[in-house]
Amino acid sequence: MDGTTALRVGWRRRWYAVAMATVAAGTVAVLADDAIRVAIAHPQIWLMTGLALVAGWITIVMLATPQRIPMVISPAICFTFAILLCWGLGPAILAQALALAVIAWRRRRPLAEAAQIWGQYTLAFLAAAAMLWLGDPDPFERDGPTHIASDAVTVLAAMIAWLLVFATVELLHAVVGRGTPLRCPGLRRVVANHVLFKAALLSMSPVLAVAAHINVGFVPLVFIPLYAVQRLARLSADRDQAARMDPLTGLANRAGLRNRFQELLADIPKSARPAPGAPTGLVLLMLDLDRFKHVNDSLGHDVGDRVLTAVANRLTMALPTTATVARLGGDEFAVLAASTDPGEAERLGSATLRALTDPVAIDGLQIDVSASLGIGHHAAGEDFGKLMRHADVAMYEAKKLGGSSVVTYSAIGDHNSPQRLHLIADLRDALLPTGAGQLALHYQPQVSLATGEVEGVEALLRWQHPRLGPIPPAELLTVAEHSSVMQQLTAYVVNEVVAQLAAWQAQGIQLRASLNVSVRDLYSDDLATHLARRLAEHGVPPSRLQVEITESALLADPSRVQATVNQIAALGCTIALDDFGTGYSSLQHLRRLPIGEVKLDRSFVAGMVDNPGDAAIIHSIVAMARLLGIRTVAEGVEDEPTRLALAAAGCTLVQGWITAPAMPAAELASWLVPRPPAYVTAV
Ligand code: C2E
Ligand code: CA
Ligand code: CA
Repeated sequence: MDGTTALRVGWRRRWYAVAMATVAAGTVAVLADDAIRVAIAHPQIWLMTGLALVAGWITIVMLATPQRIPMVISPAICFTFAILLCWGLGPAILAQALALAVIAWRRRRPLAEAAQIWGQYTLAFLAAAAMLWLGDPDPFERDGPTHIASDAVTVLAAMIAWLLVFATVELLHAVVGRGTPLRCPGLRRVVANHVLFKAALLSMSPVLAVAAHINVGFVPLVFIPLYAVQRLARLSADRDQAARMDPLTGLANRAGLRNRFQELLADIPKSARPAPGAPTGLVLLMLDLDRFKHVNDSLGHDVGDRVLTAVANRLTMALPTTATVARLGGDEFAVLAASTDPGEAERLGSATLRALTDPVAIDGLQIDVSASLGIGHHAAGEDFGKLMRHADVAMYEAKKLGGSSVVTYSAIGDHNSPQRLHLIADLRDALLPTGAGQLALHYQPQVSLATGEVEGVEALLRWQHPRLGPIPPAELLTVAEHSSVMQQLTAYVVNEVVAQLAAWQAQGIQLRASLNVSVRDLYSDDLATHLARRLAEHGVPPSRLQVEITESALLADPSRVQATVNQIAALGCTIALDDFGTGYSSLQHLRRLPIGEVKLDRSFVAGMVDNPGDAAIIHSIVAMARLLGIRTVAEGVEDEPTRLALAAAGCTLVQGWITAPAMPAAELASWLVPRPPAYVTAV
């Protein structure tokens, strides 16, 4: 709700309250004299009013309205309606006023609200009184012959009139006073429930009225069935709540979150509804604790449960009360909020991660509870399931990035989103002869630390999308890896690189070129066959070509991948192990596979000057590779101190912006000619 809408609703609410209170006060002013006279003449009224007050004190049950405004259902009405039947409108309205004041006091609700509700009741009482006046039922008016049928019909009509007016005023109150749209399903359900409870209570009042005439001593007996009704109502409210609550943490569960989503959506006033597809301001954050499974497996479910409870408490404490925190199951939590401020999602995201930076202490153990977080923004017209899916996709992307990452859903990260499917189709087009010029390979030099010579290059893919501009390779590859277009893409890369090697060979440039392949390529025999064919066609010696595979690719299906890797090595091509150190760096790989080169990942290389841990890792990998006769390439070298440190460690080659970024083959040829001598390091 934006500022002006809130203001408008605020004004309407005040006007409504004033109008209702005026109705009540006006009616009482007219009837006061008569009411006092009747009250003096009939002392039973005092007992009945007293019981109404007791009933007001033991208010039955609270129903949550769509806006979480508690709706109190009190049995007082069965006494005040009985007063109406026996002694008329004035005493009934006065008794109702007292009962409402007691309820307001007990529930700590403002008196102004009680005054407004009193107005609503007064209108309903007026309608019922009109019916009674028309039907003039005997037993409640005077001692005389009872007309069983007509009296019953009159009282029934009075009850129905009361309920109809009451329901109408309730709806009016929600729509005018609170700005809830009339077609909000939650609103209708709550009003219907409310009216049903009121009908049950009203139907007891004729019995009370008759008892009051014959022997008022029987009247208090009505508290027994009232108590039973109260118990049942509370049980059903509790069950409703339990269905929406996670028993372990007390947070909302999935159903509770969905409910809240619908409430928040209904809260958006009609005038402020965005057009389909436009953001509604609802955001869903989904988070999943990192490594929680280890906690459960190694420390037991008991400790796991305590960790989850601690996380739930931290999130509730750290986030504003307007945000709903939920546990979706396992170690998955969600936060739902509505805000027109576009920065709100990010703010909630960082507050969430901040709340989880410190480990949780359990029995003296410090347990890490960091999480990965995905953010989904709701667009008008989308259902709850879609919002959940978006936040979920973003969360998995965040997981892939590792360590307390936050990712906001964008259609590109979603394997199945329409945008992504478009991108795959576009990539297929780019691979057709008609798409020529969109895809290109850039080559980044690898320079020997000992001699300063350029020994090789790595081929890196570039895509200039006709509409979206340059697409980062990492993004393009996430799209491609999940579809069969990946093999076509790799075939394109192989063709280009081998043709380029042949061209360089013809120009007398002796370079080794590395190309990257994905897991998918390593699953089929096609890659080795294709490589062999192309190398033979162009007359390029296989030793000039190197294939880079990542450790994660090796882990996917070791035996299948190993077969392909062996085939490629058998051709005479070298295999480079890319991003070494980031995955499960098993030394087994170095021993078992025909690896000729290890690429030290940029994350260690960049930190090695400042971080002794990173330096130690680099030193040991280099030393070990040396012993095994494997070449080492440091990736992402950006500055001189790092280059010197690598030289000192005994690393073979550097690749990074310090030498040159990846560039088109034509640029590389001219770059190669005047080799700057400063790249030789004396070690
Ligand atoms: P990679 O194999 O680790 O490639 C190295 C990445 O580091 C390249 O990013 C490169 O441009 C970047 N880089 C080089 N020097 C520096 C530096 O000094 N500082 C920094 N910060 N970055 C540097 P790029 O080109 O964005 O490629 C990203 C990844 O996409 C590559 O990571 C590789 O895994 C993949 N990729 C690129 N081309 C291909 C391809 O043709 N086929 C396959 N399967 N994957 C490819
Ligand atoms: Ca690479
Ligand atoms: Ca790499």
